[in-house]
Amino acid sequence: MGDFIRLLPEHIANQIAAGEVIQRPASVVKELIENSVDAGASSIELHIKDSGKTLIHVVDNGKGMSPLDAELCFQRHATSKIQKAEDLFHLKSKGFRGEALSSIVAIAYVELKTRQKDAETGTKVVIEGSEIKLKEECVCPVGTSFKVKNLFFNVPARRNFLKKDSTEFRHIQEEFERIALAHPDIRFIFTHNGKELLQLQPGVLKKRIANVLGENQLDRLIPVEESTDIVKIKGFVLKPEYSRKTRGDQFFFVNNRFFKSSYFHHAVQRAFENLIPAKNHPGYFLFFEVDPSKIDVNVHPTKTEIKFEDERSIYAILTTAVKLSLGKYNIAPSLDFDVDTTFDIPLSDPNREVKVPKINVDENYNPFHVSKTKLKPSSFTGAKQDNFSSAINKQGFDKEHSNSVDWEEFYSIEDLSDSEQLQLIKEEEREEGTNQFIIKGNLLFLPSRSGLMVIHYKRAIEQIVYEELQQRFIHQPIHSQSVLFPFEKELTNKELECWRENEKLLNQLGFKGEIKDHQLILSAIPSVLGSENVLDCIDDIISTLFHKDIDKGDIAHYLILSIAKSASKEEISLKDKEAVEGLVNRLFQCQEHNHTSSGLKIIETIHLDEIYKNFKN
Ligand code: ADP
Ligand code: MG
Repeated sequence: MGDFIRLLPEHIANQIAAGEVIQRPASVVKELIENSVDAGASSIELHIKDSGKTLIHVVDNGKGMSPLDAELCFQRHATSKIQKAEDLFHLKSKGFRGEALSSIVAIAYVELKTRQKDAETGTKVVIEGSEIKLKEECVCPVGTSFKVKNLFFNVPARRNFLKKDSTEFRHIQEEFERIALAHPDIRFIFTHNGKELLQLQPGVLKKRIANVLGENQLDRLIPVEESTDIVKIKGFVLKPEYSRKTRGDQFFFVNNRFFKSSYFHHAVQRAFENLIPAKNHPGYFLFFEVDPSKIDVNVHPTKTEIKFEDERSIYAILTTAVKLSLGKYNIAPSLDFDVDTTFDIPLSDPNREVKVPKINVDENYNPFHVSKTKLKPSSFTGAKQDNFSSAINKQGFDKEHSNSVDWEEFYSIEDLSDSEQLQLIKEEEREEGTNQFIIKGNLLFLPSRSGLMVIHYKRAIEQIVYEELQQRFIHQPIHSQSVLFPFEKELTNKELECWRENEKLLNQLGFKGEIKDHQLILSAIPSVLGSENVLDCIDDIISTLFHKDIDKGDIAHYLILSIAKSASKEEISLKDKEAVEGLVNRLFQCQEHNHTSSGLKIIETIHLDEIYKNFKN
């Protein structure tokens, strides 16, 4: 045998290290802007092209770099921010690892121009795949400009791994917002493909929040302020009525650094207890000031978690501070939220605007109307329709479509696989009928040949609606129902953007509406949705579009799933035999009736044998 260990060539080592720090265009944006903040800039511009894939350009008016530093800064572990290990415990800067620039130049083409205040000329450095291509004196303003082009040009695997432009853009937007909110005293400009998206003037936090997230935030904010030896807390929480089912406006900063913490989130949530529905998340922008030696930011560069020495005390202080603020601003301590009133104005507000109750005109629409034909012809058109389900459904199949084929001749039960046989047996099970049934919670119990069949009927409804919409959607737009009083929903800029991006599809699915002053005003909704579930459904759709990385081709599936889920929340009456029969029939007409499209079990069969087993002794 011999020696096998080799040292990796420098450029490969750099590329590997780069992968740790720079995962996507948004990571570059974060690192460059943080460097500008660290350099004491009072003005920072971010210009990107093609969601950062082609160009990320950050310009600041900070302290700039000397000609030597302009070259040194690209080396691994080159930093001006710490000198000795002890400095780690007094960090005031965002960066300190000296990894960002060396990582970026390993995987992109970078052009730097920088000048210090007293210098007459600046320095220009061009560097590509860690190799310096050019270094020269240049004329440029005081401060620093970094252009990062063709990210991952030499790591195709990474480049291919990037998500579609709108997703990458959203990540950039998110990073930008976090820094812009953390530094309201800095002027920011943000452009994409030459179009100005934001121009933020320096000012107070409240104004910054409004400028970044929409002017409508202004009268939603309740100030929070608390000062103790352990922590100083400052910032705002959103009034309880603006809490959301989905996470969105939750911002924690410690010493002006954004971080995430489910522990502190819980602390805020506790302060909102009884004021918002249990599953909702309150919105907040909370700034902690803590002695830097009491926190550990020495975590992975891409992580946003931070360790706090006095975590428990801060938790308690935070809950109390938020509670106090809510009390001060007259938010009643206990409202009854048993009913879902997420979007109502709280009862305690005397100036509350009285809204006309929203009614869906189509009150008579019953998605569980029993259809006369037991099987929709359309369910036979799908390529996935297999011999097996055709065989089972033969009795119910409309003669007109069956061409009088004797299906028995084609398929005998022996030809079927185990799971298919089981399925067939289940199908036969239900033929016991729906004369007797019991409903407990969301479960429907029916006698079957060999025992008992239990159907989770909410899930059954979800699946029925899902498949029916899916089928119809392929052929034509889904039937939508005009509403007498339009539904209104406030959305943030980003959410509105999401909506616009997918508007055509949403129209096809039955949502019709317009956008006015951050309000989404819906004049028509899919007719399977009841009025009480529309806003919930929109919430779900927005969070799906916004938070999940979905392939374009899958968007329709997810949206239909959202609609189906919301439709399943509808109160339906399964009081009589017809209603139960209708439900069961439609469930068994589904191509997949054992599980919902989100993978949850719908039917369970309990055999008499199993029950008898329990009575053996
Ligand atoms: P870190 O920020 O961890 O020190 P970076 O690789 O991000 O490491 O930057 C390396 C060094 O380059 C910084 O420590 C700083 O001295 C210098 N530098 C980077 N960006 C700027 C900037 N915009 N203005 C002035 N100096 C900068
Ligand atoms: Mg840095």
